[in-house]
Amino acid sequence: MADGGLIGAAAGIVASAGFMGYAVRGRSSAVFAPSVYRGDRSRPAIALTFDDGPSESTPVLLEILGRHRVPATFFMCGENVRRCTGIAREVASAGHEIGNHTDTHPRLDFHSTEFIYREMALAQEAIQGATGQQPRLFRAPFGVRWFGLGSAQHRLGLTGVMWTVIGRDWRYPPQLIARRLLRSARNGAIFCLHDGRGVAPAPDVRATLQAVDQVIPALKEGGFHFETVSQILCPTN
Ligand SMILES: [Zn+2]
Repeated sequence: MADGGLIGAAAGIVASAGFMGYAVRGRSSAVFAPSVYRGDRSRPAIALTFDDGPSESTPVLLEILGRHRVPATFFMCGENVRRCTGIAREVASAGHEIGNHTDTHPRLDFHSTEFIYREMALAQEAIQGATGQQPRLFRAPFGVRWFGLGSAQHRLGLTGVMWTVIGRDWRYPPQLIARRLLRSARNGAIFCLHDGRGVAPAPDVRATLQAVDQVIPALKEGGFHFETVSQILCPTN
């Protein structure tokens, strides 16, 4: 009986650790805050999203997206916006959507509600000051959510956005990134890529740029078109 109880308790701890793991990092988890990870599935649309910008390499990405006439969504960090203000403005004036990705790109777990709110509010302020756009979307750094995120999102009018597929573009070569994305292409998919590395200046994102340039025409040939995250979430678009 004692053994059974012990095993039961151990199983409970393992199960709740598993639950916390899902709650914090699961792409479909809305435990801490309302969050989406895919768009409307009734039309063949894909949303390209780029995190951790703007960076010194973002203008090259803007050239690629412009050449293919494709809109995207940029989840920016406040610190990067202050460093590359003109580039943030270029992203907005090219017609792309801009979301909030915190001010300094910390993991949000084990932080206070006030810390989390401040990180998000500072980024909101930087983005709005530089671009005139008030973000309505938020993506948590590393996809990590925590207590207090829900109230911060609510206070700032932000919807949490995860992803359908993550390109792992910070470590894979272009061919592998492209293959991951093409394999996961489906109606309403939200692709997560990066035009920066946290808040590090002058990041090397060449693999991402090359993959994006290959993937867009291949997806178009497959019958897909591209939408911003706000567009892809709307069923009547
Ligand atoms: Zn990030």
